[in-house]
Amino acid sequence: MTTLSNPLRMLFSRAGSYPDGAGQLDSDAFSPNTAAGACPECHGLGVAHTVSEASLVPDPSLSIRDGAIAAWPGAWQGKNLRDILTHLGYDVDTPWRKLPRKHRDWILFTEEQPVVEVTPQRDRVAKPYKGRFWSARSYVLHTLADSQSTTMREKVLRFMETGPCPRCGGSGLTPAALAVTFAGKTIAGLNAVPMTELAEIIRPTTELTAAGTASRKQSSGEGNEVAVAITRDLLQRVTVLLDLGLGYLALGRSTPTLSPGEMQRLRIATQLRSGLFGVIYVLDEPSAGLHPADAEPLRPALVPAPALVPAPAAASAGKLPAGWNCGTSAGTTCAGSTPTSRWAS
Ligand SMILES: [Zn+2]
Repeated sequence: MTTLSNPLRMLFSRAGSYPDGAGQLDSDAFSPNTAAGACPECHGLGVAHTVSEASLVPDPSLSIRDGAIAAWPGAWQGKNLRDILTHLGYDVDTPWRKLPRKHRDWILFTEEQPVVEVTPQRDRVAKPYKGRFWSARSYVLHTLADSQSTTMREKVLRFMETGPCPRCGGSGLTPAALAVTFAGKTIAGLNAVPMTELAEIIRPTTELTAAGTASRKQSSGEGNEVAVAITRDLLQRVTVLLDLGLGYLALGRSTPTLSPGEMQRLRIATQLRSGLFGVIYVLDEPSAGLHPADAEPLRPALVPAPALVPAPAAASAGKLPAGWNCGTSAGTTCAGSTPTSRWAS
């Protein structure tokens, strides 16, 4: 997929429609895997760990005194935070769900850290002391970032939720990169559509002529020569994959989610597109892991290439050429054969 992602990034960098006043971005800026392109919130991962009322307060029927805020620390520290709330005038004995929304939000999410003089309620001999308040979110985030204790970090991790990053919508890209469009879509949008659709979106640009170029507006590079050159290259690459029956895949599909058969065909597509001269490809069972229906599209893709294809298993299914000989004749020398003359054997 990288061989497709690179020209796509180049297309957005050189020929995208930028917002008014925005400077041109490098192609790196359109990859979440680079320092320039990674979303500052999730560092390009596209996922964010967040807290919510439900994650911090799993049982809203409890009062704060009974431990409603499960994410808070236990023991002395937890009692300390509760005492601070009491001194600040909050109700710690009413069930959580009956507290006013404003109070609940402040207790869970405030960035403020008021310091109050606390007289411990539970111990008459204890002396008053200065206590600093931490909202449940501040406490969880602070512990995750700064605690030296693995146990502590694991404990607070249980109160976090994992989901798409709210800043980049899960794309891992910066707001600046997501503001650039091509054919009305962001690069995240194009990464998400099946390649059959991607081909149709870029096809009009590949067909632009010089006359069409002049009529395009200046603020967008979508009609310039660069756009035409890049989209033509991209369309060629995409077409190889469409021919291999992979048109349903989206560019943004991560490698671990691909099946062995899909990986196999992507590798073949990369090889065939590399355009090496004077090379013979020896494809050892290129149909391994493929359903016969998926193996069939390989045939026209392989015909133009001088390829030797020992694939006894596929040949027995009658779907793919088995190279020169197979089955009981396997290993027979094949010097002088031409690939195309053997497809039917
Ligand atoms: Zn993000």
